[in-house]
Amino acid sequence: MERILKGIVLRFTHFGETSAILNVLTKDGGISSVLLHGVKKRGGNYGTGAVVEWHISKKYFEKGGLAKTSKYDILDNYSFGGDVEKISIRDCAIELILQVIPQDTGGAKELFVLLEKYFKYLEKSDGDMFFAFWLFCVRLAQFLGYKINLETCVNCGNALKTCFLSQEKGGFLCENCYSKPNWREEILQILSKGSADICEEMQKFSRKEKIFVTQRLISYIQYHCGKKEKPLNSFNFFCDFANFS
Ligand SMILES: [Zn+2]
Repeated sequence: MERILKGIVLRFTHFGETSAILNVLTKDGGISSVLLHGVKKRGGNYGTGAVVEWHISKKYFEKGGLAKTSKYDILDNYSFGGDVEKISIRDCAIELILQVIPQDTGGAKELFVLLEKYFKYLEKSDGDMFFAFWLFCVRLAQFLGYKINLETCVNCGNALKTCFLSQEKGGFLCENCYSKPNWREEILQILSKGSADICEEMQKFSRKEKIFVTQRLISYIQYHCGKKEKPLNSFNFFCDFANFS
């Protein structure tokens, strides 16, 4: 009897001479670990960002949640031909998921679908990578149960213009409710639209403003998941090495 486990590789750690331990976001939801035998023999031809089906014999499906296998099919491999900008922004989403979604807690299919869509978008896009990640964060927050209302103030319910994203309040505060609003209305509009066709609009914002928005969104998610608010290593890497137009 064989069981097929489909998932996205979040982390690939070499283990011993020929094996590796993989943290995998499974299609059925939740993060699992897979002990992969014979990695070197097969050339180790995939890594983080690959979508894989592992064939796991039932007797090797251990109670501790670590599945052992050496049989697999690679369905997709989102390595973007080594494009540093795309790889680092891909890893921002992975790093955030590993931080806020506990191992072996089970979960929902939506997270797998969300991450796969994000990878597909990065693969075909020549546009602004910030936007892709912003949208990912907004949808991750929604998946986690902390949906960000982009239209009205969480305090008074007025329509938002220039505003402030308050993680403590769980959303945006309007100009009347917060004295130092620093989030432009145009950014709310872009996030509400959520369509991929916004490259020209993204050029309105400076690199500094894009970094600021990204860090606020990351902090919002970390705060609501009870994690220490800190910058993602992958995002620092993205800012250091990616080309900004
Ligand atoms: Zn208000």
